[in-house]
Amino acid sequence: MPTRSDVLRELKLAPEWRLRRSANAASAAAAPPAPSPRDAVPGAADPAPRPRDGPAPADDGARLARIAALGWDAFAADVEACTACGLCRTRNRSVPGVGDVRAQWLLIGEAPGAEEDARGEPFVGQAGKLLDNMLAALGMNRRENVYIANVLKCRPPGNRTPEPIEVDACRPYLERQIALIRPALILALGKSSASLLLGTDASIASLRGRVHRFGDVPLVVTYHPAYLLRSLHEKAKAWEDLLLARRTLGAHSSDAGTPPGE
Ligand code: SF4
Repeated sequence: MPTRSDVLRELKLAPEWRLRRSANAASAAAAPPAPSPRDAVPGAADPAPRPRDGPAPADDGARLARIAALGWDAFAADVEACTACGLCRTRNRSVPGVGDVRAQWLLIGEAPGAEEDARGEPFVGQAGKLLDNMLAALGMNRRENVYIANVLKCRPPGNRTPEPIEVDACRPYLERQIALIRPALILALGKSSASLLLGTDASIASLRGRVHRFGDVPLVVTYHPAYLLRSLHEKAKAWEDLLLARRTLGAHSSDAGTPPGE
């Protein structure tokens, strides 16, 4: 039977990230501007548009009040029925989120890609495998003490960058998730997530490496895993960000590690 390492090597995600006690390797050269990260996510062709009801007004007060009162029992169904922006017409499945609803760690990406749209779960393509690998290096997994969500719950066609009107329409769902989970730490994966949560258009390079706050919740910014798949030299920085996040939670701060290939 193949080992986990065999599988990751086959997926070209090896060598695995491992914790070690020695000092961390130096970071790589300065970062170029990060393109839309999900462009790197392979998957099926865009789904054909499906006829649906037209979008409802994004600023509908009754809608906002309903979402603000949602519990987990109704959350996914409410997202699946949402027509508040035009993405409802092209999605196959909505992607509300996955994980431990009592998690300390809340990871927030940009939007579903093709595989996520087909399966209804965030980060299930190669970027998802890398994310799982990163979590495993910290002794974590996506089902325990971790919740993963996206800014947008439906896939933009062709993995294009989300439009501001779509982000605004979907924002109440993310805000409700944060309120329900009450995480101890938020890890923003990529620029769209960081921009929404921090209200800035600053680059990832300028935002990472320090602790921000979303309300009273500490927030750390790092690169989107899909971007890391094609920018291997940035993995060292992403690893530093994960260690910063863990230190922020006060766990095992003496450990240092190394990213794949270092
Ligand atoms: Fe609704 Fe968000 Fe999907 Fe737009 S992206 S249809 S606001 S759930």
